[in-house]
Amino acid sequence: MPVTQVSLHEHIDVVARRVIEHADQLTALDAAIGDGDHGINMKRGLEVVLADIDDLAAKPLPDALKAIGLTLVMKVGGASGPLYGTLLMTLGRELSESFDRAVLASAFGVAVQAVKARGKSDVGAKTMLDVLEPVRQILEAGGDGLPARVRAQADAAAAATVPMKATRGRASFLGDRSVGHMDPGARSSALMIGAVCDVLEGRT
Ligand code: ADP
Ligand code: MG
Repeated sequence: MPVTQVSLHEHIDVVARRVIEHADQLTALDAAIGDGDHGINMKRGLEVVLADIDDLAAKPLPDALKAIGLTLVMKVGGASGPLYGTLLMTLGRELSESFDRAVLASAFGVAVQAVKARGKSDVGAKTMLDVLEPVRQILEAGGDGLPARVRAQADAAAAATVPMKATRGRASFLGDRSVGHMDPGARSSALMIGAVCDVLEGRT
C-alpha cells in the first residue's frame, strides 16, 4: 500500500466531502434508532476540517491526525465526536511520517482499542466498532489489493449491523426496536474508510 507517498491534502478533502455529501443519509439512520443528529454532527466537524485544510495538510501526518482528531472532539460533539477524535489522535501518536502496512495495522489496532476503552464498548454492540474492528483484521492480514478489500469489508460490516441489537449508545435505549436499521456510526466509519481507499486506488 503506497502509504508513504499519499497526498494528505487529497485524503482530507475526499474524506470530508464524502461525509458531508452523505450527511442527510447519516441523519436519517440516526433518526431511526437515535436522536437524528449524526449527519448534522459529522457535517459540522468536517466543514471545520475543510476550512482548515491547507494548514492541516501542511503538517506532518502525525500532527495532522492529532489536529483533525481534536477538531472532531470539539466540533462534532455527541458520542461520536470524542470517539472519532480518540481514534485519530491515537493514530497520530502511533504513526510516524512514513510507515508500512504492518505498522499501520498495529497503530490502527491501538486506536481501535482506545475507542473501545473510551466508549466502554466492544464489537457486537451495534456501533462504529463493528466496522473498525473487521477493518483492523483485514489490515493485519495484509495481502494484494488491500484498499479494495478494506472498502468491501467496511461496507459489508456496516450492512451487518442491520440485524444487530444495540447494547451501547443511544440506540440501546430502543432494545429490540434497534434491530432492522444500520448503525449510523458504522455507516460513517465505512464512508470515511472507503474514501481513504478510493484515494489510495486513485479512484477520485
Ligand atoms: P449521539 O448518540 O450522542 O447523538 P451521534 O449521533 O453523533 O451521537 O453518534 C452516534 C453513533 O456513535 C452511533 O451510531 C455509534 O456508532 C456511535 N457510538 C455511540 N456510543 C458508542 C460507544 N459507547 N462505543 C462506540 N461507538 C458508539
Ligand atoms: Mg445522535
